[in-house]
Amino acid sequence: MSVLVFTENWDGKFKKLSFELVSYSSELAKLMGTIVTVISIGNVSEEEINKLGNYGAAKVLRVENDKLKYLVNSAYGSAIFQAAQKENAEVVVLSNNFTGKALAPRLSVKLNAGLVAGVTALPSGLSPFVVKKKAFTGKAFANVKINSPKKVLTLSQNSFGVIESKSTFVIESFAPDFSEKDFGMVVKDSTKLTGKVLLTDADIVVSGGRGMKGPENWGPIEELAGLLGGATACSRPVSDEGWRPHTEHTGQTGKIIAPNLYIAAGISGAIQHLAGVNSSKCIVAINKDKDAPIFEAADYGVVGDVLKVLPELARAVKEFKAEN
Ligand SMILES: Cc1cc2nc3c(=O)[nH]c(=O)nc-3n(C[C@H](O)[C@H](O)[C@H](O)COP(=O)(O)OP(=O)(O)OC[C@H]3O[C@@H](n4cnc5c(N)ncnc54)[C@H](O)[C@@H]3O)c2cc1C
Repeated sequence: MSVLVFTENWDGKFKKLSFELVSYSSELAKLMGTIVTVISIGNVSEEEINKLGNYGAAKVLRVENDKLKYLVNSAYGSAIFQAAQKENAEVVVLSNNFTGKALAPRLSVKLNAGLVAGVTALPSGLSPFVVKKKAFTGKAFANVKINSPKKVLTLSQNSFGVIESKSTFVIESFAPDFSEKDFGMVVKDSTKLTGKVLLTDADIVVSGGRGMKGPENWGPIEELAGLLGGATACSRPVSDEGWRPHTEHTGQTGKIIAPNLYIAAGISGAIQHLAGVNSSKCIVAINKDKDAPIFEAADYGVVGDVLKVLPELARAVKEFKAEN
């Protein structure tokens, strides 16, 4: 019996969410009195794989195959399924991101396992196995009981955190058996659009809403995000208007993020927006309307014109950086 976790990589590198997944799985394995095995698919260097040992991995199954450089849903599903069988995994953990959401239902069927998507915490009990997940776009929690012997969980990003727990571990090459059907559809190439910090991975996010008035005013948002080493985001109307790309849209129908600091500039704080950002550790709101709902969700608020406040904030950060 073991816990199996699938760690995605981006151009051969792991990200914070991979380490969060291993941290969660390692704590889960401790609760269950077993070990955590990681499956890594794609070309990842040994140096990178070694990083997983900082978060409690006991074993890493390394699947290297040029055909698996990009996500091929059926082949990845097949590899994870075979790893789960080989390791006699009782629980398989994936991220609740696009990749995890694509793979988890397939695995659940193959393993005849109960699936809970968007888990936010370790199980409150093992017998029965009960896990907590967000419901109603983050306004409520549901405690879900899984009755099947095998379980598939997808973990909500940034809900658990990264826990360092050094372990000695073994790396094993694993060559699953693939059929032609597994490669019915493949991604031939993929191009990165920017070199910026990934929104879902950022510790600091500076986000703009309709109060920014137009795309020509995004300079201060980008400057502040750049100075803080963060990512930029926006509300849905902003991306709908084409002021910013849809990849930046946060909220119920966009990306769900939970950075340490979320700066909301000219955003009213509609529930659909908050559904995507209300797990942030600290929310700072800038709005000219002192009664804007965003102030109810915010830890700190500035009542003022974003176009004046943002450059002031950038100036203060520059001053602070120069002095420290
Ligand atoms: C089914 C559904 C799903 C949705 N999903 C999402 C979603 O995922 N994400 C999302 O964001 N929205 C979503 N929405 C839309 C949501 O309801 C709001 O309409 C939207 O979030 C409002 O965006 P906003 O705050 O940028 O704009 P507004 O509501 O227009 O707010 C602009 C704010 O800027 C302030 N402001 C104006 N000028 C200045 C200035 N110079 N300085 C400072 N402040 C200023 C105003 O006081 C106001 O509070 C959804 C709606 C529906 C119905």
